[in-house]
Amino acid sequence: MRIYGHFIAGAEVPGAVLFEDRNPDSDAVYALAARGDADTVAQAVAAAQEGFLTWAALAPAARERVLLTTADLVETEAERLVDILIDESGSTITKAEAEVAYSASLLRAAAGEARRLYGDTFPNDRPHRLSLVIRQPLGVVVAISPFNAPLSLLVKMVAFALAAGNAVIAKPSEETPAIAVELAHLLHRAGMPAGAFNVVTGYGPEVGPALVESPAVQGIAFTGSTATGVTIAQAAIRGMKRLQLELGGKNPLLVLRDVDIAEAAATAAVGAFFHAGQICMAGARIIVEQPIARAFAEALARTAEALHLGDLRDPRTAYGPVINARSLAKIERHVAEAVAAGAELLTGGEVHHGRVYRPTVLWEPPRTCSAWCEETFGPVAAVVAAADLEEAIAIANASAYGLSAGILTHDLQRGLRAARALRCGAVHLGMHSFQSDALAPVGGLGMSGIGRSGGKYSVEHFTELKWISVELGQTPRPF
Ligand code: NAD
Repeated sequence: MRIYGHFIAGAEVPGAVLFEDRNPDSDAVYALAARGDADTVAQAVAAAQEGFLTWAALAPAARERVLLTTADLVETEAERLVDILIDESGSTITKAEAEVAYSASLLRAAAGEARRLYGDTFPNDRPHRLSLVIRQPLGVVVAISPFNAPLSLLVKMVAFALAAGNAVIAKPSEETPAIAVELAHLLHRAGMPAGAFNVVTGYGPEVGPALVESPAVQGIAFTGSTATGVTIAQAAIRGMKRLQLELGGKNPLLVLRDVDIAEAAATAAVGAFFHAGQICMAGARIIVEQPIARAFAEALARTAEALHLGDLRDPRTAYGPVINARSLAKIERHVAEAVAAGAELLTGGEVHHGRVYRPTVLWEPPRTCSAWCEETFGPVAAVVAAADLEEAIAIANASAYGLSAGILTHDLQRGLRAARALRCGAVHLGMHSFQSDALAPVGGLGMSGIGRSGGKYSVEHFTELKWISVELGQTPRPF
């Protein structure tokens, strides 16, 4: 069995204490990983401060080359990375392959940003002054990532931060340390100088606070739950650190009356059940315009019942287990509360095998119950009817979250009207709410977070602007 260390100053550093990294499908121990603490964080911070000096001083073309080479290595090593994603995080082969391919794409998109750290000039009120605005890296930044897409979400945060010249300390989820250490090896094989990219593994509460509160850390990118995000935000603001938060969602899918019901149900099923619904942008609240609401819900239930749940390496398998017993208990509680409150269980509502929960469709849960209001992070879709488009928009917007939304319709005018009115960070017309793109500004409103990541938006987050003025002539002094 592989024993993973932290990755600090260009090499794996064995952990004094280890913890178990379990396979969520078999529940067997997949690997052992180093259990970090405040001392490990101090080592990583010192290494990153050193690494920053070397990395930031490189020409953009050199940083670009490291990221491009890493993208190539991700592709060369794809089969091994796919295996890790399957065994460590319970991904299906389809999801794991897509995640590896997307990670390579993110690295290439980020590589291009290394050359685009544009500054600015502006006309000055004083005639003899020339003003320059230059863009500089923040310094040492921290990326804290979740378990659900443990490679691509980590790559998304770190690749743009590195492109901009920052040194990074990554803190992966305790559920998925292995894939993060593997990424560190690939970056170093590609030429990353020692200390520019470090990984500290371990439990959030044991590692996170020391990282977030370190005075040497200038910026934080966090992808994870809203509860953890709030804790991190409080610490970050005390230290006046640049902060970007990509948090939870309870995303709506609007299904308008003109759709083909079977097609719409098939699309909605992917949005709600992909990776067992463990996707921040999962379309878990499905709002269907009358008169097709009930027929749609029944079609979704039929689609759900036809999904194949089996071997994760079988491409027919729709999704696998949820990550741990706590997640499963939450899903069971949300479904039980919805049914007790009057929702009709059209299908699902039980475990299929192990921690694989059947795709579940709830009809008309009260809009106050947990399955409607809170993030379930499981394969549970709740369907409600709306009298018309305006009511569908109002139902969708009555949420504390505001991450992403989908709209299924062929009527572009009504679709665009809804897209403008929905209160969230992204709206996908003709698709469910779970969409990614390396250059898209991804992020949410309300309890779904602060800021946007992707392409130039990430670069803005990970850089600081500085105004430099130059006096070119005689400027009168006030005294
Ligand atoms: P989580 O909040 O439990 O953990 C995320 C990370 O935070 C882990 O690395 C964890 O170790 C760390 N952490 C925990 N406590 C900490 C603390 N006190 N200080 C610092 N770090 C700490 O989230 P999770 O269960 O791993 O992931 C699922 C959540 O992530 C869901 O809510 C999902 O919606 C969200 N998510 C959001 C996006 C997005 O783009 N908006 C993408 C994926 C996942």
